[in-house]
Amino acid sequence: MIADLHTHTNASDGILRPHELVSRAKLHGVELLAITDHDTTDGIIEAQLTAQKEKIAFVAGIEFSCQWQGKGIHIVGLNIDIRNAQLQEAIAKQKATRQARAELIAERLAKAGFDGTLEGAKAIAGNAEIGRPHFAQFMVEKGFVRSAEQAFKRYLGNGKIGDVKQGWPEFDEIAPVIRTAGGRAVLAHPDKYKLTRSKLRVCLADFVAAGGEGIEVISGQQTPNITRNMAQLCERFNLLASCGSDFHHPNAGWQALGRCGKLPEDLMPVWHDWENLPVH
Ligand code: AMP
Ligand code: MN
Ligand code: MN
Ligand code: MN
Repeated sequence: MIADLHTHTNASDGILRPHELVSRAKLHGVELLAITDHDTTDGIIEAQLTAQKEKIAFVAGIEFSCQWQGKGIHIVGLNIDIRNAQLQEAIAKQKATRQARAELIAERLAKAGFDGTLEGAKAIAGNAEIGRPHFAQFMVEKGFVRSAEQAFKRYLGNGKIGDVKQGWPEFDEIAPVIRTAGGRAVLAHPDKYKLTRSKLRVCLADFVAAGGEGIEVISGQQTPNITRNMAQLCERFNLLASCGSDFHHPNAGWQALGRCGKLPEDLMPVWHDWENLPVH
């Protein structure tokens, strides 16, 4: 099964419209797709309609911004019922947090000598959930930095002035909401947090205690070594295995749609009991 269970549309910080993403996934041979925009389900209905037309198996998803021990950690919710009231309540709260956070990011950037970033980032985000990538793009357009990569490295990335995490919920606020909405909570891209191996184990133990059920054993195009390590953690914590490209835009080769490789055979995939999947 070629599954891609972590992708972004222009409802958050991706480039493609939901219907474009679904069609592109189909074209690239994806058999099971989830859209997991940051803190919003706004792209899901359009995607579901296109998936029906294109005959590609699709589940609704979301990527929740959380924090754990002062670090920004992402939890993906898969196969959720987007009409669930508690889920939408949690999303409304995230939206408010995102707005307040954008103001704080702009204030901090202003102190560093960069003016007008709130208005600039908002204009770029449009109807999408505003995030650091919109600030990065504005800073590139203004010539404050050479590239988005540089904006993150200097001002927006882990531990930099624009890395605002306060306000994001802890795992135990989010994992139960995902479950209530009929979905599964999956720890996103565990290798990306720069946690030591022992810290990552503590993080996973807390995640499981909060109701987490899965882990992304594969995120994008990663080395076999990382896959082995993540597979070990998956087994150790008795978790279900997920995989996703974390696709945002067509030009980022290491996050190409559907290119996340096959999960190790001995793991139980997160989709093992989902209905209406293609037969293999
Ligand atoms: P936010 O949702 O505001 O916390 O922004 C997080 C998003 O920024 C991630 O989902 C990525 O899409 C993007 N991002 C994080 N780190 C980098 C980086 N070093 N370069 C480019 N984009 C990044
Ligand atoms: Mn993103
Ligand atoms: Mn993420
Ligand atoms: Mn993502």
